[in-house]
Amino acid sequence: MIPPIANRFVAGETAAKALDHVRELNDRGIKAIVNLLGEHHDDRAAVREDAREYRLLASDIAATDFDACISVKPSQLGLDLGNDVFREEVTAIVDTAATEDVFVWIDMEDHTTTDVTLDTFEELARKHADGGHSDGRGSSSDQESGAGVCVQANLKRTRADVERLADIPGKVRFVKGAYDEPADIAYKDKARVDHEYETLLEYAFEEYDDGIAVGSHDPVMIDRAIELHDEHGTPFEIQMLTGVREDAQMELTAEYDVWQYTPYGDRWKSYFYRRAMERKENLRFAVRAIVGR
Ligand code: FAD
Repeated sequence: MIPPIANRFVAGETAAKALDHVRELNDRGIKAIVNLLGEHHDDRAAVREDAREYRLLASDIAATDFDACISVKPSQLGLDLGNDVFREEVTAIVDTAATEDVFVWIDMEDHTTTDVTLDTFEELARKHADGGHSDGRGSSSDQESGAGVCVQANLKRTRADVERLADIPGKVRFVKGAYDEPADIAYKDKARVDHEYETLLEYAFEEYDDGIAVGSHDPVMIDRAIELHDEHGTPFEIQMLTGVREDAQMELTAEYDVWQYTPYGDRWKSYFYRRAMERKENLRFAVRAIVGR
């Protein structure tokens, strides 16, 4: 069982618990991106098991008719065992989910995975582009299935990737980047990463017709995205994590499309540790939960 200390960041250990959480979110007007926790599987059986769970999850989401999609990690789907393993598993998930009208995000891991992740995304996004969008970006209003990918502002290559993605259907999630990358390929200074993030948003709101997801808790970046949306009219969605700035999620959902990234599963310890360590408030919350005050 997940202790109360980790409950804030993780929806539960089972898909049923995650779907209960999705129902509560949907009741409050927030949509859900469901993720089964797990990464760097080096065993084919574990990869198959998680891939199977994602396919079942897509069917469950379709059966409940929730406003929800799923998000997968390449190394959870066998990337460490070979690019072909990842391609095979993610393709089966996106194909199955598409038959159920469920959208699939592909998370971005460290820089060694960027090329294969983007190439695989491109194949899937083109395959699942709905009629009329095959030579351009998909529309979030009519694109209920298919694939999206994440790009990281801390990587120096990302501007070029974002320009490449402008011609590919499917959605793009913009994040600052969670991995500690080498200085020759990544910006290390936080202010520089923030600047890059803003510049990427400016490009996307100008050049993309649709399909922009702002994956950030940063009020400055969210305000900037809203300004850009007002200026260009480009639709967008805001994505935040379970347990982080939930008040802001509630406020924003009155006017904008808000999606909450909802992790679940029994591999919650390392995920919880990351959330607790990334900010002082989270760490204080964890300590208070332990000492009971
Ligand atoms: P930061 O730059 O960390 O902080 C900026 C400001 O945001 C802070 O000053 C504060 O005002 C506010 N803020 C941030 N965190 C908190 C908090 N915990 N509590 C209160 N206020 C806060 N990274 C990847 O590399 N690959 C992925 O696939 C990926 N997917 C993601 C999906 C989603 C939905 C989200 C939200 C993030 C994802 N990330 C991913 C993580 C991302 O790269 C960042 O590491 C993470 O979001 C922190 O950056 P930030 O923009 O949220 O805010």
